[in-house]
Amino acid sequence: MQNIIFWFRNDLRLHDNEAFVEASKAGNVIPVYVFDVRYFEKNFLGFKRTGAFRTKFLLEAVEDLRKNLQAKGSDLIVRVGRAEEIIAQIAEDLEATAVYASKEVTQDETTIEASLSKKLKPLNIEIELIWTATLFHARDLTFQINFLPSVFTDFRKKIELATKVRKTIDTPGQLNKVENIEAGNIPTFQVLGFDTEPVIDERTAFNYKGGETTGLARLQEYLWDKNLLKTYKETRNGMIGADYSSKLSPWLSFGCISPRKVYEEVKRYETEVVANESTYWLIFELIWRDFFYFTALKFGTRMFKASGIKNDLLRQWSRQRAVFDTWVKGETGIPFIDANMREIQLTGYMSNRGRQNVASYLAKELGIDWTWGAAYFESALIDYDVCINWGNWNYVAGVGNDPQANRTFIIEQQANLYDPEQAYVKLWLGENTHS
Ligand SMILES: Cc1cc2nc3c(=O)[nH]c(=O)nc-3n(C[C@H](O)[C@H](O)[C@H](O)COP(=O)(O)OP(=O)(O)OC[C@H]3O[C@@H](n4cnc5c(N)ncnc54)[C@H](O)[C@@H]3O)c2cc1C
Repeated sequence: MQNIIFWFRNDLRLHDNEAFVEASKAGNVIPVYVFDVRYFEKNFLGFKRTGAFRTKFLLEAVEDLRKNLQAKGSDLIVRVGRAEEIIAQIAEDLEATAVYASKEVTQDETTIEASLSKKLKPLNIEIELIWTATLFHARDLTFQINFLPSVFTDFRKKIELATKVRKTIDTPGQLNKVENIEAGNIPTFQVLGFDTEPVIDERTAFNYKGGETTGLARLQEYLWDKNLLKTYKETRNGMIGADYSSKLSPWLSFGCISPRKVYEEVKRYETEVVANESTYWLIFELIWRDFFYFTALKFGTRMFKASGIKNDLLRQWSRQRAVFDTWVKGETGIPFIDANMREIQLTGYMSNRGRQNVASYLAKELGIDWTWGAAYFESALIDYDVCINWGNWNYVAGVGNDPQANRTFIIEQQANLYDPEQAYVKLWLGENTHS
């Protein structure tokens, strides 16, 4: 049987992974994960592109994937380097006939895909990139991507009316043995450029390990064991603890869990427990997630520029590093902002309410180049997702898809509304809430 390389990317799962299933049908599948060194370099502001919390989650996710593959008789080949070079070399060494992987949509990722494709061509090795990231399949959109509505509600209505969520794909059964290649060690923190592992702050709202196994367990816990889905709409703007929202984001971002799996479980819950506004709202949020993926597909590199997808070249942005640094460190003097910025720094997580506020404050109150904020989030967030992060920052900064681009959060009002007893601010700043 012919050798097929499967290159795992942000799809670190075996359930509902169409790309992997197709690869395993095509031949002797050899699963590979590459810790791409470019994602561990410093960005233009001096932040490591993948910070310590996300790195920890990723290492755990890769370890879990290897165990799950081993349980099926296969293995995961692990390497550190530049993905296209390593994948092409392995494919050549093992005389593979094709490389399969999940399709990505953004600049850096598609550049890597393109250079891999270029390397494989002279070797006569095929490359198959398969869509696995979203709830609604890209091929099921009823419009060409250029006609993607620019306002979320228009997109949601269109897609809900005309498109069905495809069924999840079964997890493959027993797999072939991986032979004639060193499996390779999962790198340490030091290899990836960190001095030490991050310390877990006991106040964290996200105290979970990475991987498909823990992701599926959290889904089970949130819906079934704790029965929290039925009140999601009421609790989702909370800020303290694990249970005000699903906390599925890091697993979704690395693809440890598929959005269709979440969807199917929500539908089952609606049949077996209750269907209400809350159950719908989790799906509604997953549609937001899709919206930003398709927005990234439509607008390409514009999403990463200060002028945004609106291409607003008139808007001026400040680039005062000292002012920006007070925001990063949580030293602006505004307790609600500072508490949130300390939470992200110490845990890698921040609530959606917090993110909306700190982003609005940076872009609209301080007038700082919002791409700096997005680049800091890229480094700091445990759940960083290129489309969702940059899409939301475009939106909040007023250069994206917000029909009310001048919308500004009045921070004091938000603090009174969402933290009336100052419990959140006290949690992160101590009793002295005037930071
Ligand atoms: C400036 C800014 C940057 C953000 N960056 C990211 C990011 O890098 N990665 C990320 O996953 N989310 C990001 N979000 C969206 C949102 O804040 C997080 O998805 C959410 O807080 C994660 O917690 P949860 O899984 O408990 O969310 P839940 O409330 O339980 O939502 C369930 C899922 O729906 C999706 N979702 C929820 N809110 C949004 C949203 N506003 N936009 C798109 N999808 C959403 C996520 O996949 C989430 O896991 C950002 C929001 C803002 C305002």
